[in-house]
Amino acid sequence: MYSPMEQPIVIIGGGLMGVSTLYELAAQGRRAILLEAETALGLGASFANGGVLHPSLPDPWNNPGIGGPLLRSLFSRTAAMKLHWRHLPALTTWGMTFLRHSTADKHWQASRANYHLAAFATEETKALSARLQLTYDNRPSGMMKVYRSARGLKQAAAFARRLQGEGLQVESLSPDQMVARDPQLADAASQLAGALVFDGDYIGDARAFLLALAQQGEKLGGDIRCGARVTRLLHHRGTVTGVEVSENGALSQIDAQVVLCNGHQADQLTRPLGLKLPVRPGKGYSITLDASHVPDLMPHHPIVDAEKHISITPLGNRLRLLGTAEFNGDDTSLNQTRLETLRQFFRQFYPTLASQLDIEAGDCWAGLRPMSADGKPFIGASPLDGLWLNVGHGHLGWTMAVGSAKLLTHQMLNASGQETTPLPSPLDPTAFSASR
Ligand SMILES: Cc1cc2nc3c(=O)[nH]c(=O)nc-3n(C[C@H](O)[C@H](O)[C@H](O)COP(=O)(O)OP(=O)(O)OC[C@H]3O[C@@H](n4cnc5c(N)ncnc54)[C@H](O)[C@@H]3O)c2cc1C
Repeated sequence: MYSPMEQPIVIIGGGLMGVSTLYELAAQGRRAILLEAETALGLGASFANGGVLHPSLPDPWNNPGIGGPLLRSLFSRTAAMKLHWRHLPALTTWGMTFLRHSTADKHWQASRANYHLAAFATEETKALSARLQLTYDNRPSGMMKVYRSARGLKQAAAFARRLQGEGLQVESLSPDQMVARDPQLADAASQLAGALVFDGDYIGDARAFLLALAQQGEKLGGDIRCGARVTRLLHHRGTVTGVEVSENGALSQIDAQVVLCNGHQADQLTRPLGLKLPVRPGKGYSITLDASHVPDLMPHHPIVDAEKHISITPLGNRLRLLGTAEFNGDDTSLNQTRLETLRQFFRQFYPTLASQLDIEAGDCWAGLRPMSADGKPFIGASPLDGLWLNVGHGHLGWTMAVGSAKLLTHQMLNASGQETTPLPSPLDPTAFSASR
């Protein structure tokens, strides 16, 4: 029989959540084993994401009034957020919860809770990166959210002011002020009503980060096994006791506590045990462009067009165009219409820079955000003893990864009677509990 400190902990999934969790547990002296089904780490949603740690975007996608546009999206090929007919049945229960949480009050409460986790996590990511000397095209960049209509800008500014009361740094810019700050925006500014700038945001390549952090986790004794798919959770009288793993064509079992970090596949393993987790895939696209020959034209800030769900992020000598959201099951095929929307947006936004790049040669990718129905991740104990959760981070997974791993580890250590340092006060772990 193991003492709680000696018992192994199996982490299912080697994306941002799994690797950050492995590192934190190993740093606390726990025996952590990460099992990843794919042949390498970070090939899921964490592979080529937007690259921005953005406490400035804590609001879930079910903003008040989302119902109408979402229904209309069934009839549009190009809607920024799109539902597909054939996946409606799979989204019924999830979708009702999504809509039920789109009231002004619920949306604000979720945004506020997410903001405090995102702000904590961003600071922790910066501190960890400095301490371990991790480099992943990371730098404090801030972020600029642009608006095409005065109404959109006004609404966003009111929301940002509310978050300012919670600690968010924000500044409002007119089109002229945007150009004064970044002359590259001269072409775009005439199409815009203005922008909000958030100085606290940070950029970096998420996959490069997780690969570097995984090495550090291994140095601390963490065990990482790729090509190891968990086929089921082992359980006895309502307690999860370990996992069954398929590895190199053979099945084996590991007795352990278990942490679920398997992204959009969250409830595939828990359903047979009666635990339904409302997490569904939300597809997005990115195109990564080589811009190494035009360093002088690189934008300083990432920019986000929140109304179109499109962003452009400078990552070292690359540019990443990304965005749009589709509820299309676990399909990761590349929809050319959607990719063309990203290219078109880029050409209109930065015409001078776009004319210097081979846009068609960019690396195209589609990934599946693990979207929880109420817009907040699940972090902490599950209703099943022996099973912990770190899933459902949606569009905020890169922003929250390090902070979520700390929050989870804090709760796991407390549960095994180990002393922990207190969490910063506005951060509320109960907001992310499975029983919320
Ligand atoms: C287009 C796009 C842009 C984004 N931009 C940003 C951004 O700018 N900022 C931000 O904060 N977030 C962003 N995100 C969100 C962020 O990327 C995700 O929230 C995050 O990557 C989720 O990480 P994860 O570890 O939960 O999931 P994943 O990275 O998907 O990892 C889950 C892993 O679990 C493995 N797995 C599943 N089942 C099993 C099993 N049975 N056994 C073993 N392994 C298993 C999978 O193979 C996978 O590797 C973006 C996402 C997308 C798609």
